[in-house]
Amino acid sequence: MLFADIIVDISHEKLDRPFEYMIPDSMSGQIKCGSMVNIPFGRGNRMIKGFVINIKDRSDYDPLKLKYIDSVVSGSKTIESDMIELAWFIKTNYGSTMNQALKLVLPVRKKSAPVLEKYISAAASDEEINSALERFRKDKRTVAKYRLLSEIAREGIIPSDIAADKLNISASTLKSLVNEGLIRVDTKENLRSAFTVRECSPYNIKLNRTQQNTADDIWNRFCAGDRRPSLIRGVTGSGKTEVYIDLIDRMIRSGKQAIVLIPEIALTYQTVMRFYRKFGDRISVINSRLTPAQKHDQLEKAKKGIVDIIIGPRSALFTPFANLGIIIIDEEHESTYKNEGMPGYHSREVAVKLAELKNGIVVMGSATPSLESYYKAEKGLYSLYNMTERARGSELPAVDIVDMRSELNAGNRSIISRKLHDMISDRLLKHEQIMLFINRRAYQSFVSCRSCGSPVKCPHCDVSLKYHRSGFLMCHYCGYTVPMVKACPVCGSGYIGTFGAGTQKVEEEIRTLFPEASVLRMDMDTTKEKGSHERILSAFSDHEADILIGTQMIVKGHDFADVTLVGILAADISLYSGGYMSSERTFQLLTQAAGRAGRGNKKGACVIQTYSPEDYSVLMGATQDYEGFFRHEMTYRKLLGYPPCMNMLGIMAAGTDETALDRVCCRISCLTDSMTAGREGIVKIGPSAAPVAKIQDRYRKIIYIKAGKYEELTRIKDAVENMMDSDPEKTVSITFDFSMNTR
Ligand code: ADP
Ligand code: ZN
Ligand code: ZN
Repeated sequence: MLFADIIVDISHEKLDRPFEYMIPDSMSGQIKCGSMVNIPFGRGNRMIKGFVINIKDRSDYDPLKLKYIDSVVSGSKTIESDMIELAWFIKTNYGSTMNQALKLVLPVRKKSAPVLEKYISAAASDEEINSALERFRKDKRTVAKYRLLSEIAREGIIPSDIAADKLNISASTLKSLVNEGLIRVDTKENLRSAFTVRECSPYNIKLNRTQQNTADDIWNRFCAGDRRPSLIRGVTGSGKTEVYIDLIDRMIRSGKQAIVLIPEIALTYQTVMRFYRKFGDRISVINSRLTPAQKHDQLEKAKKGIVDIIIGPRSALFTPFANLGIIIIDEEHESTYKNEGMPGYHSREVAVKLAELKNGIVVMGSATPSLESYYKAEKGLYSLYNMTERARGSELPAVDIVDMRSELNAGNRSIISRKLHDMISDRLLKHEQIMLFINRRAYQSFVSCRSCGSPVKCPHCDVSLKYHRSGFLMCHYCGYTVPMVKACPVCGSGYIGTFGAGTQKVEEEIRTLFPEASVLRMDMDTTKEKGSHERILSAFSDHEADILIGTQMIVKGHDFADVTLVGILAADISLYSGGYMSSERTFQLLTQAAGRAGRGNKKGACVIQTYSPEDYSVLMGATQDYEGFFRHEMTYRKLLGYPPCMNMLGIMAAGTDETALDRVCCRISCLTDSMTAGREGIVKIGPSAAPVAKIQDRYRKIIYIKAGKYEELTRIKDAVENMMDSDPEKTVSITFDFSMNTR
């Protein structure tokens, strides 16, 4: 016997109170999560519709008291069924409760007072209006009436504030016309808007040959029924966005809708402006900066078909479009597409699943595709498109690598190398702009030698050790710990310490070195206020400053024509940040940052300052050699069994009681060992301390499992979940993290 949890009103508030029904044997094959069913409800067994959100083989209730599902509602699939099925996919593949997954995909229905607006329209026949117009025209005392009525005769309907402000119509004139039965005033509920447009020049781009071929091919494959995701690898400035715009245009012309994912909120305004130029009010925005009422209204607009295009970060994926045709994932390699909380889903995979449910397609683009996506493209799971030239014909920047060790040897202790210093002076003279980029991770504490550049590494793992305040260095993969070293283990130099110059320190130094330059800084501190991103960016864009200093935020997507120099101050920091993806991150960062230079007519240059000039991710990032990097990095991943060659599951256990935590980890470890015994190609690492070993007094331990088949990992996840349901150690909680899988 199978049982189903059913909700009758699909909203956050009702999720916690599902009703349980029995599934008749005859229907067991038909019913899945998301199915809409008819159920007898309440005392009178009134027949109502509900959605199945869970199917199980046990019930906590007395089966005699449960009713049977009456029938499956046949025919049209609803938006809700798709969303519930998507939630089920997320729950199954990333590990969360169905409730958590549902809350993610379903909009919160925040009731808020609607925005009311008054409209004026004609209330009489055309003949009556015309004769009234004739009358008003002749009489000097009725010029205002004539003005309003002729406007209405021309426009049909006009907002009442236009009548008041633009036509200068008084309330008494309005009232008198209403009394004469010529016009009427109606109140309409308006949906809030999510953005305001300041300036807008019309769209006037004509695709070049490469762009046209790419868009044509993706569209033709779509029309031919090929639903494979597309990956566009296009160098920075190659015009990927215009390809997205063209595809979206074709989609909405055929009655479908589009979701455009961007890696972070900071990019919203400029992306919106580009799309607005083409699509006007057919677009809207969803992100966490909107008020609940604004967010609610955008979802309504999407559902009602008032807009066809939604732009936003991760969460925009869950826009309830009835007929979604295309999901764009811009800068698909960005780590922000992975949700750090529970469920730890990756937007790329969820997008592919959603497109499958909607019979639509996914198109992703990047200058530096994630290894995972490129690997899939090579295997034929994605279709690959290459765009190798910049759309405006400008050349890619010339890149110089500066070895910071020799700077120190030559007596330069500044964070700015001599080379970069000279080039900044040169650009300031020419009145060109400069961007200085500093890694966000610079705030963190990785220890390395200032003389030879060696990081202090764990002897058991290929990662650098992290400095802890208690004076210890620790490996976050195996837990290896040593006291802070006094001298470099490689060259013996005493110049060893934590890496780290924040943006603020850089700003101070730049102001000292170049007192004549005007400087803007963009980081977490300067962008707390609403609208501050846009203010800084548009100020820089208007050339109100010579130098922009910033973190990751300034690297992505921005297009400043006057920037001819990009300086990357410490390329190494992402390299030694630990984790198997650090080389990939470094390569991406360098390529993307260098790509900011010379987007206009003048050729750009880029200076990469590094302590490891011979590292392949630095070298290949400098030459923008994606293929070379991919081959090199894949060899390493294959050798060490990291994704995308293997699938990896992190099981994180956390609790305030460390001994209880250890007991749970032990049990999980035994369970996974017994499940994987004798199976080839499954590797377990840990338990060991998590990268952040304690958060808010909760200790954290992590176990990694690597497997060739993704299903092995979901099987283990399910077993661990089951075990935890009946585990006596109630203070310990478990979260799952599936990294970069190759399903
Ligand atoms: P990407 O997203 O690949 O980095 P963009 O789409 O931002 O590149 O394009 C870079 C610049 O080139 C933008 O300013 C864009 O407006 C311009 N551009 C792109 N395609 C064309 C085209 N066919 N004709 C003229 N300008 C173009
Ligand atoms: Zn050294
Ligand atoms: Zn280690």
